[in-house]
Amino acid sequence: MRYLKIEKDKTYEFLEKLKKYGKLYAPVKISDKFYVRKEIEDVKEIAFDYQRTLLPLKKYFLPTTEKMFEIDIEKSEYRENLEKIEPFVIFGAHACEIVGLRILDGVYLNIYPDIYYARRRKAGIIIGLSCLPDEYCFCNLRRTDFVDIGFDLFFHELPDGYLIRVGSQKGHEIVDENLSLFKNVEQKDIDAFREFEERRQKSFKYQGSFDNIRYILELTSNDKLWDEESNKCLGCGNCTMTCPTCRCYDVQDIPRIDLKSGERIRFWDSCQFRSHGLVAGGHNFRETKKDRFLNRYVCKNSYFYPLGTSYCVGCGNCTYFCPANIDFQKNLDKIRSNYEVIHG
Ligand code: SF4
Ligand code: SF4
Repeated sequence: MRYLKIEKDKTYEFLEKLKKYGKLYAPVKISDKFYVRKEIEDVKEIAFDYQRTLLPLKKYFLPTTEKMFEIDIEKSEYRENLEKIEPFVIFGAHACEIVGLRILDGVYLNIYPDIYYARRRKAGIIIGLSCLPDEYCFCNLRRTDFVDIGFDLFFHELPDGYLIRVGSQKGHEIVDENLSLFKNVEQKDIDAFREFEERRQKSFKYQGSFDNIRYILELTSNDKLWDEESNKCLGCGNCTMTCPTCRCYDVQDIPRIDLKSGERIRFWDSCQFRSHGLVAGGHNFRETKKDRFLNRYVCKNSYFYPLGTSYCVGCGNCTYFCPANIDFQKNLDKIRSNYEVIHG
């Protein structure tokens, strides 16, 4: 891997240069508690110290609502929506988000190839950014706190700039085309990088491992914790919408008023909605709120074998954005300790 350094005073210049590779999207602070990732006009408004954005990275690759194709009812024909996707640059993706995107790649590029996702993925340049965890983060327990693949460049904070890892051919091209902005890495930079990573590891609230939690969950469906916690749940679906790896969608055909044409759209759906498990005839595969609640815990703790991690990357979004203050990590931790008491 190629390592470079950029000094603080050159960083904004580099961010400005990024705009020539496509629209630049980065996190911006919008209130005391919230950040959003949006198109950047003025690079000075970029937030470098954010933990999470309202909607995760997936929104650029799986839009909340997307037209799949136009239908000509009279001619019984359809036309896929394959308008050109303009290149774009995402600056400031955290390691867990990049792993989340790789999980989506596994699903939408490999298992169920999806042309709409693939075209956006090809158009997007990903630039990672290091972070310090807050009380909601547990990517350390998911082994998603560091990535070595899945980005074009990755920025690691140093006292006087950033240490940059180059992760792709495109990344090499970008640094080569702007070489005057970069320096070689010195020993003091490597020491600072290691010090930052050590400080970061010590900052995580949860230590240990959630590796075996998926086996434990299957044994605990009668645990009273699930009744108590699902009783508090509002069924709003925030936890799934803000999750970087949740990917369920619904599909609807919308006819136009002339009934001669129409369009097929897909939009984000949630396993926390009652309608999600409802099928023809009125049967519901997840009839109760507890069924739906537990389903998410089991789903997110299932294993994605190609990456050696679960479908949860430990970002803490679902807890942070839950209006009922349901703490996903704490619930998993409680279940883990209950299990250890029983089987210890
Ligand atoms: S965000 Fe909280 S209240 Fe809303 S569905 Fe998820 S767990 Fe339930
Ligand atoms: S389940 Fe919660 S903590 Fe895990 S990836 Fe999804 S939002 Fe993040």
